[in-house]
Amino acid sequence: MTLRLYNTLTRRKDPFTPIEPANVRMYVCGPTVYDFAHVGNARPVIIFDILFRLLRHLYGAEHVTYVRNITDVDDKINARAARDYPGLPVNEAIKKVTEETNAQFQADVAALGCLEPTHQPRATEHIPEMIAIIERLIARGHAYVADGHVLFDVPSDPSYGALARRSRDEMLAGARVDVAPYKRDPMDFVLWKPSSASEPGWDSPWGWGRPGWHIECSAMSWRYLDEQFDIHGGGIDLVFPHHENERAQSCCAFDKPVMANWWMHNGFLQVEGQKMSKSLGNFVTIRELRENWQGIGWPGEAIRFAMLHSLYREPIDWTLKGLDEAHKVLWKWAEAIEGVGPAEEVPQEVLDALCDDLNTPKAIAAMHELYRDKRFAELRASLNFVGIAGRRDRLTRVQHLDASAAAVSGATAALVSANEIERLKNERLEARRHKNWAEADRIRDLLAAHGIVLKDFKNPETGEPDTSWEFAR
Ligand code: AMP
Ligand code: ZN
Repeated sequence: MTLRLYNTLTRRKDPFTPIEPANVRMYVCGPTVYDFAHVGNARPVIIFDILFRLLRHLYGAEHVTYVRNITDVDDKINARAARDYPGLPVNEAIKKVTEETNAQFQADVAALGCLEPTHQPRATEHIPEMIAIIERLIARGHAYVADGHVLFDVPSDPSYGALARRSRDEMLAGARVDVAPYKRDPMDFVLWKPSSASEPGWDSPWGWGRPGWHIECSAMSWRYLDEQFDIHGGGIDLVFPHHENERAQSCCAFDKPVMANWWMHNGFLQVEGQKMSKSLGNFVTIRELRENWQGIGWPGEAIRFAMLHSLYREPIDWTLKGLDEAHKVLWKWAEAIEGVGPAEEVPQEVLDALCDDLNTPKAIAAMHELYRDKRFAELRASLNFVGIAGRRDRLTRVQHLDASAAAVSGATAALVSANEIERLKNERLEARRHKNWAEADRIRDLLAAHGIVLKDFKNPETGEPDTSWEFAR
């Protein structure tokens, strides 16, 4: 089976060959931990989790090393710490913000069915490696000290721009560079900068300061994956300047032609044609989706499944309809695979689709055929392979009720949560108490139409009529 992966470096889908099959190495740029992650941030986490699972299958779980860093030094974090913990010393306030946010992130991505990467290093724990790389760059004539800063000397790297393939003018516009007086060239970027008393800082050969944005990934990939590795991933917005700068730093420091052999980038998750982002304010956090979005707490599995309906390199428009449809399909499949016999192998057509540059829509199409052909054990194996358990008890937080349910519950949304089912059940009990049998039956039929069965019984303690509900088998 040949794995073919699109490579941003070559702009081609190339057959994947690792440097060392006994240690396949992948690095993915992780979150900046200052606030809840939005569902756009979940896209690279889910996509590279699919790739991690596929590599483990192809090369053996113990032969794959996946590193996803945690960016815990950033000016957005400083601002957040000053806002939320004004009384605390700066380092303590920052620690609180980054630890809280990281814990939220870990819980969110676990709910989305993502395996833990092999390593999740934090930037602040790798300052010595960053300093070592900066020293090498200075020694090799690729960086210089100016006005308390250390800058990467872009014209010293003839291959600068090899990944982004943009002209100098385009790169200048894209990097939105500060034209600082201490820069020799406007493209030069910061490796180290001085910190004030209200900013986090570390001792360095260039005084008290902190790293620039890009150097951390060169340092952590070096530490855990060596000077050159197999796959480097992230969202498409990272190609320039972040990945171009990482590449320049690592190649110039270690004298290598490439930092990673494959560069992979996911497309944007969009809302009405625009990239979902914090700065545009058009975002929904993973946490909101899980707890309450349009009146529903959505199961992580449905969010993941909805995401896999698009090719990872193409944009996705995030809609309630898409999420709802994905959830409906999962519910139907979960019902079918419940209690089916022993485990089966993942069918070749599903693996082939994934090996074709992670073609998840094609893999899902193959799963629809497995369902149609009643090959339920293989359907379950396929779902599990892409990180979805497909169990109804994982999906019970949401049920699909149609517009009539909305009318009954008085809600505007056409969907209701388990809380709403509980509420309808109680309304029916109330109707029965008033001997309003027609209303009681209407509610029972409505719930039944959505796979919810009510059981009436006499409460042994109070002697009053009571009702329980469960999902139909
Ligand atoms: P950030 O916290 O902005 O550095 O983003 C973390 C990761 O999420 C990076 O790999 C980004 O490329 C990715 N990302 C951010 N917004 C989106 C989006 N709307 N769609 C897809 N990926 C995104
Ligand atoms: Zn990075």
